[in-house]
Amino acid sequence: MHIPDIIIAIDGYSSTGKSSFARLIASEFSFLYLDSGAMYRGVTLMAIEKGFIDADCHTDTAGLSSALKSFDLHFTMTEDGSKTFIGNRCIEKEIRSMEVSGKVSPIAAIPCVREFVDMRLREFGKRKRVVMDGRDIGTTVFPDAELKIFMTADLEVRARRRAGEMAAKGEKVSIEAVMANLKERDYIDSHRKTSPLSKAADALVLDNSRMTLQDQMVWIRGVIKERFGNVSD
Ligand code: C5P
Repeated sequence: MHIPDIIIAIDGYSSTGKSSFARLIASEFSFLYLDSGAMYRGVTLMAIEKGFIDADCHTDTAGLSSALKSFDLHFTMTEDGSKTFIGNRCIEKEIRSMEVSGKVSPIAAIPCVREFVDMRLREFGKRKRVVMDGRDIGTTVFPDAELKIFMTADLEVRARRRAGEMAAKGEKVSIEAVMANLKERDYIDSHRKTSPLSKAADALVLDNSRMTLQDQMVWIRGVIKERFGNVSD
């Protein structure tokens, strides 16, 4: 199916399967996929490694802001798809750890961090034919995106999926610990001052609690046909 040059913005709660869905959309329609959460995770990893977060989880915002000025965080295409890098170091595994997951939401609430990420995302958006997932893509980063989707799913379903993914990568965590982390991140993301997580007025809601990825692809093909009419197969 060939579709017009548009931006697809996917927002929603943590672990609703946004990135798996976005990756599949990108491969089906030959779009570029951008994982905005990976950028916030990359900044968080740098803040941990450079000692900008103390034992009580207080952040040295001035130090972090200054470090961001020369922070080389980017995506690079590898044999296994697009991965997140700092300089020439692949950080894809570290940014998915529980330590980073536990610290990322407070870091993502800091205005200079959001400015840093937004600037990079908007650069990519200029070329269109991108699908981006995050928390504020349809509300703040690309308020004019032609297609906006807001994803949600039951908390327990999300926690089970996430714990399963982590177990597959060799990190064993309890469902309860994952649920607590998801709840905390959803709360911080929805209540922060700068660009809180919220559904854009013109976003379509997708609750995938009882849907497979294939069901979701059937759904989006239908939405695209309805919205953009004369798409070619
Ligand atoms: O999508 P993912 O769960 O990897 O994102 C990690 C964290 O980054 C989220 O919990 C949220 O705090 C933050 N984030 C954000 N805005 C985005 C994407 C992610 O605040 N657009």
